[in-house]
Amino acid sequence: MPERIFNFSAGPATLPPEVLAQASRDLVNYRDLGMSIIEMSHRSKDFIAVTEQAEQLLRELLDIPANYQVLFLQGGASTQFAMIPMNLLGAGKDKKACYLNTGVWAKKAIKEAKLFGEIDVAYSSEAEVYNHVPADGDYQVDDKAEYLYFVSNNTIYGTQFQSFPATHVPLVCDMSSDILSRPFDIRPFGLVFAGAQKNMGPAGVTTVIIREDLLDRAPENLPTMFKYRTHADQGSMFNTPPCFAIYVVGLVLEWLKNLGGLAAIERINKEKAALLYDTIDRLDFYRGHARRDSRSLMNVTFNLPTPELEAKFIQEAAARGMSGLKGHRSVGGCRASIYNAFPREGVEQLVEFMAEFAKNN
Ligand SMILES: *Cc1c(COP(=O)(O)O)cnc(C)c1O
Repeated sequence: MPERIFNFSAGPATLPPEVLAQASRDLVNYRDLGMSIIEMSHRSKDFIAVTEQAEQLLRELLDIPANYQVLFLQGGASTQFAMIPMNLLGAGKDKKACYLNTGVWAKKAIKEAKLFGEIDVAYSSEAEVYNHVPADGDYQVDDKAEYLYFVSNNTIYGTQFQSFPATHVPLVCDMSSDILSRPFDIRPFGLVFAGAQKNMGPAGVTTVIIREDLLDRAPENLPTMFKYRTHADQGSMFNTPPCFAIYVVGLVLEWLKNLGGLAAIERINKEKAALLYDTIDRLDFYRGHARRDSRSLMNVTFNLPTPELEAKFIQEAAARGMSGLKGHRSVGGCRASIYNAFPREGVEQLVEFMAEFAKNN
């Protein structure tokens, strides 16, 4: 591998070098078949094995029970904002769902859901620039809601649910930026989805894990491609799936399994995040955006005393081989995205630089 910089990008994001090396070999010649992984029929036995292997690894890592289906879809996480209410709220506008507004991704999902049913926004942290996520007692879930929708990790603001909502209605969750970062019990969930490009692989595939009994809520007149049932019945092969993205996700899952699975990666993620939060708290110079009780292990957001110093910080960090530290345009400041594959050495180098920059400025 050529020398790599430390890439703190929020997504598409850093992938394990071993995965990239394997993918580059298979891009030319997959398992000595004399053709590339992206030249194979998606219906060939070799490619079906790739998809089945990826699904199997995901089931193993997340401990997914048999009554859930795993789908590999296109359209990005954003398509799920509409597909979820389309399928789960049915045809009429008489059905209801409950949403927690903890950031722009949640807000976009709320906008789409309103096209398909009555949407109760049970909580919003918008007035505080989404600097926290709610605790169970902070909101009420309507008994008649078909599901409670939330975003487990708010990529832009650096907030994360430390534990998941306890409620009697099925949970529906956008885990795009923290799936596979820690173990969790999927049984209270009706549906979990994640775009791959943050913590699972390249852009192009969105993983949907759906409880089987929810597959048949969709109205008859829903177009074929928008029905979860279509993809579930065809093993995600109703039409050409995003072959290369699924293949890379499989490699990432294998890498994660070899590392020791979710308990092991959670330990590593906690250590990496602690290095950054300790630095932010220790030096008067930096201010964390997220409230302490909501701090994310994946995206660490912080401000410097002035926007000018923030620009200088980002520029000097880049000159030292640390890129992608600019915060999202909607909140400004700085953001260090340190997903599963982001190396600890990169975090160590960043905190060293933070201390030095604070002293010099
Ligand atoms: C990035 C992101 C999205 C959007 O994903 P796309 O695949 O670009 O549609 C949605 N939700 C969360 C939490 C994200 O981080």
